[in-house]
Amino acid sequence: MTDYIAPLKDMLFNIHALSGLDRVLQLDRYAEFDTELVDQVVEEAGKFATDILSPLNIPGDRARPQVVDKGVIAVPGFAEAYGQFVENGWQSLVVSPEYGGMGMPGVAGAAASETWQAACLSFMLAPMLTSGAIHCIEAHGSESIRNTYLPNMTSGGWTGTMNLTEPQAGSDLSVVTTKAVPEGDHYRITGSKIFITWGDQDFSENIIHLVLARLPDAPEGVRGISLFLVPKFLLNADGSIGERNDVYTPSVEHKLGIHASPTCVMAFGENGGAVGYLVGEENKGLACMFTMMNHARLGVGMQGLGISERAYQLARAFAMDRKQGRAPGVKGSATIIHHPDIRRMLLVMKSQIEAMRTAAYYTAGVEDLWHYSGDDAEREAASTRVALLTPVIKAWLTEVAQELTSLGVQIQGGMGYVEETGAAQHMRDGRILTIYEGTTGIQAMDFVGRKIMADEGKAIRELIVEMRSLDDALAADARLADIRAALSAGTDQLESAVRWLLEQGPVDPNAAGSASVNLLMLAGTVVGGWQMARAGLAIIDGAMPNDAAFSDAKLSTVRFYALHIMPRAHGLAMAAMAGADAVMALDETLF
Ligand SMILES: Cc1cc2nc3c(=O)[nH]c(=O)nc-3n(C[C@H](O)[C@H](O)[C@H](O)COP(=O)(O)OP(=O)(O)OC[C@H]3O[C@@H](n4cnc5c(N)ncnc54)[C@H](O)[C@@H]3O)c2cc1C
Repeated sequence: MTDYIAPLKDMLFNIHALSGLDRVLQLDRYAEFDTELVDQVVEEAGKFATDILSPLNIPGDRARPQVVDKGVIAVPGFAEAYGQFVENGWQSLVVSPEYGGMGMPGVAGAAASETWQAACLSFMLAPMLTSGAIHCIEAHGSESIRNTYLPNMTSGGWTGTMNLTEPQAGSDLSVVTTKAVPEGDHYRITGSKIFITWGDQDFSENIIHLVLARLPDAPEGVRGISLFLVPKFLLNADGSIGERNDVYTPSVEHKLGIHASPTCVMAFGENGGAVGYLVGEENKGLACMFTMMNHARLGVGMQGLGISERAYQLARAFAMDRKQGRAPGVKGSATIIHHPDIRRMLLVMKSQIEAMRTAAYYTAGVEDLWHYSGDDAEREAASTRVALLTPVIKAWLTEVAQELTSLGVQIQGGMGYVEETGAAQHMRDGRILTIYEGTTGIQAMDFVGRKIMADEGKAIRELIVEMRSLDDALAADARLADIRAALSAGTDQLESAVRWLLEQGPVDPNAAGSASVNLLMLAGTVVGGWQMARAGLAIIDGAMPNDAAFSDAKLSTVRFYALHIMPRAHGLAMAAMAGADAVMALDETLF
């Protein structure tokens, strides 16, 4: 029995009707691709998720990676699955053909990522971080670094990691202390990092660590941080694997979830200094690392979507099977799916999952336009939109995942709470998603500060105008009346909160911080409403002509989202605009 099946119908509906794939396929970069090929790849990715990755999920939760001789041995089954992942070429899916990649459109990568993350979050963290590292090296590495490392990472033969965090430097990376001392054509790195995901394992030939460190004469703060590539194994002159580098994993953390993913302490340079190579310019490392972090932030959003879908599938199966109580029109004991409150909870899950999926795939489509459009204006607009939506996708999808994985437990009652069903694992595994890659608080500060106040609200107002531009089309069909009204109210509420922020932010130093998470969640909720409105319009326009059941179901979830989820926008807007006083008034000693 499998406990997860890729929701291909909704994935493909989103890819075809809502992700902007038609436009993306017109770009020169994708001249060789068509929608059939994208469909085939996504279907194969779904099979890999169900057949190979999903069976690892529960055993992976129960096992623990072992540390032997300052190295990590992965939990049983992961090395074999990784071998198959590499053999199928999955790591190369969206990587540039220049480095041996398939160069598929980003939305194919997003859909594959959703289904793989859903199948086994712990496993997929390794390829996700490798993708981010590839992205960063491609953007900032010298030609020699790109040519030396990218082909082996693209194949999946070598994995990548992200080494930022130190005990005193978590959200605040300005206080990183790991040192880098120049020595000939390389640097010697010394210091210690904590919480490094897949910092070591025994299933790839090499591991390429991207490490933030400081040069001896570096200025203090973020302007003194540089980025280094530190391989686990150094390379011989011919590119073959050589000597062991001075980077080890003395221990891994014991933690709430994602048990199979080793969260490593990393010791650099305990035996004289690990050899590292500069990526980008000296002292500009944080900006380079942001390429990886932004990529990973969208990836973590996909994790939120994936784990929510997995939790939903389990809860739905339980609700169809479990009999309890009486229900109108049902003889004898009724399966709990007949109870309105169970249906409500399942719909809170289903409707938000669909909204998140549409928002995430849409963003993946826009990201392709940003990277590869030949039209300057289109590229510029896409870059602004992706920057605006990145914290929303990261934080809103992962915060909603907390609600949905918790509902997954609630729907299953006591059986949800005990470990044997797997529902509790979804909650535990998903709990990290609002913490790593920048907590929700940090995403929200980025959203209100860099993405709204810095451009005086221009980008978000453009988005609001675009959302409102659907109004005439929504008015044309009575089946969309509820989402039309909800979107109209939601965009007004979002606009009011943005206006409040732009007025209060500059005059009250605590205004933005007090409003930020509510404002971000408001934006996420309304973006979800906008995407559901687009989905409803696509159905009315005949996007699924031969599938009345899917079309009816989609119109139902759109309406549910309008009536049950969109009203949250009002509460979020009120809290966002409540002012800093209520948050700051209580004296510290009274907490
Ligand atoms: C399982 C796991 C895997 C991880 N993987 C990696 C990895 O691969 N690579 C890596 O480098 N790191 C990794 N991390 C580290 C992770 O990114 C950090 O834990 C995270 O950024 C938060 O930092 P912190 O834990 O120091 O919390 P802190 O920064 O101490 O934050 C504590 C609380 O204070 C809030 N806070 C902090 N500063 C502010 C502020 N200015 N304004 C408002 N609120 C604020 C935070 O939102 C949070 O709620 C991982 C962590 C875990 C637990």
